[in-house]
Amino acid sequence: MNNNCVFCKIIKQEIPADIVYEDDDVLAFLDIRAQAPVHILLVPKVHIEKVSDLNENVSYIVSKLVLAANKIARDKGLNEDGYRLVFNCGENAGQEVLHLHLHLLGGRKFTWPPG
Ligand code: AMP
Ligand code: ZN
Repeated sequence: MNNNCVFCKIIKQEIPADIVYEDDDVLAFLDIRAQAPVHILLVPKVHIEKVSDLNENVSYIVSKLVLAANKIARDKGLNEDGYRLVFNCGENAGQEVLHLHLHLLGGRKFTWPPG
């Protein structure tokens, strides 16, 4: 846990969030500035800054995040039309919050390549 981290504060329930899923390792909540009809952030409950900080000891976190995202996508009826999962890593990717998070985006079409 990191006392200055906004996602750690959400995990500790020090600031509110619209939580849509929780298990022992993962918390998922609505993105406050949604970029799509469905925009959910999935975070590990441990403070890891970014995807490039993962190592073999904590690589299970990635599968937990992706499996939770798949479950939420199924529950929200996104499976048929599809959805996008995004990890922004570091400055060039536009990572704002330095607590690893997976974006689940759905409910509209997305362009490729990204801007
Ligand atoms: P990134 O650019 O990948 O670091 O994405 C960070 C995301 O966190 C952005 O989409 C923000 O809208 C979102 N965000 C920041 N603060 C909060 C918050 N307190 N509750 C929910 N989402 C947030
Ligand atoms: Zn944190």
